[in-house]
Amino acid sequence: MSFKDLQLNKTILKAVTESGYDTPTLVQEQTIPLVLAGKDVIASAQTGTGKTAAFALPILQLLFDKQMESKKGKKIRALIISPTRELAIQISQNFKTYSAHTNLKTMVIFGGTSIEPQIDLLKKGVDIVIATPGRLLDLHKQDIINLDYVETLVLDEADLMLDMGFIDDVTKIVRLCPENKQTLLFSATMPYKVEQLATSILKSPERVEVTPTSSAAKNVSQVLYYVPKRNKIELCLHLLRNTIKGNILIFRRTKFGVDKLEQTLLKNGYKVESFHGDKSQSDRQAALGKFKHGQANILIATDVAARGIDIDELDAVVNFDMPNIPETYVHRIGRTGRAGHFGTSFSFCSADEKTYVKSIQQLINTQIPVEDDHPYPLDPQAKPIIHTSKKTGSKHKKGRKGQGSKSKKKRWY
Ligand code: AMP
Repeated sequence: MSFKDLQLNKTILKAVTESGYDTPTLVQEQTIPLVLAGKDVIASAQTGTGKTAAFALPILQLLFDKQMESKKGKKIRALIISPTRELAIQISQNFKTYSAHTNLKTMVIFGGTSIEPQIDLLKKGVDIVIATPGRLLDLHKQDIINLDYVETLVLDEADLMLDMGFIDDVTKIVRLCPENKQTLLFSATMPYKVEQLATSILKSPERVEVTPTSSAAKNVSQVLYYVPKRNKIELCLHLLRNTIKGNILIFRRTKFGVDKLEQTLLKNGYKVESFHGDKSQSDRQAALGKFKHGQANILIATDVAARGIDIDELDAVVNFDMPNIPETYVHRIGRTGRAGHFGTSFSFCSADEKTYVKSIQQLINTQIPVEDDHPYPLDPQAKPIIHTSKKTGSKHKKGRKGQGSKSKKKRWY
């Protein structure tokens, strides 16, 4: 299938070609015709599937076609709600790229920066607004933003939005838009609370589902290291020296953990940037810029901060802390091994995280290969090895005495 088959007009197709896209991705193939037909859509798609263009292209086409019919001044006719500032900026950049040959105007609204420039831009008139919920509601309270003309509302990363406690804000925003609008809901996972939200706000929605969360990326080779919590930093340094190369994204569960690891890696001479919710907007943009432009090859982040951020060509993902939500593991490792490239995920599991690994393995229906051959084993005395008896040919487990195995073989639990 080509973009032409999706009934996109020449103006939009020109921008698509200039973006270097040859063929639509699966989510685009399925979503674009539905949006063009004016349907409400609930789509289960992660970042990296091309979901932004899946809603941006048809929205632009709808706005462009109608605009040619009427000569009304600019009103906000498409509203995209995003949970984080970075994602909002990224979406707005995509809209600007795809609308290059139209006179449609896009702006991005988010908190943590001065409100005045945003007010000035709004007053000049825009067609498309991409916003985080809090700042949008602030502007509405001040009577600066009018949502009466919204024709299409997009809720992007709905699961994250709910995890971040935006449910009331989102419900308010939905109510501030006209009743007869088209609503599109995108979510990486579909937990019950997202389904509930969808039921309450979408009208006879069409469903789109690509890459179920339980399927770990095919191009990612996964390795698991059992290691005492206190030795994780040493293991990380050991692997950075010997094994993990290229552009690396390291996940930690807490902001404190991110900062601590950043300090250690910097002291050891690595080029590191970090990314979490307590950093200022400009610091986060600067960190991302340095990583993308090669001034740093290691980025340490929390899940929320990293979600939705589009980084090309990651060679490795490190789960320094195991995620307690199994779907998060799939999202994390899916950050590498994209677009036909191969990537590796390195997971560090301490004793208290073994239950997380169990749930992850159940979800992905795969045993993650275990690497035993490292200097910081979790429990060297109790480590079982597969031993083949020469006499019977049968396999049995045997407790290993002492450390320092030279075996390079991976263990399958
Ligand atoms: P997204 O899932 O929207 O974050 O998109 C992930 C990446 O895929 C972005 O860098 C897009 O520019 C890129 N992309 C989107 N659609 C296509 C396509 N049809 N072909 C190639 N790349 C694409």
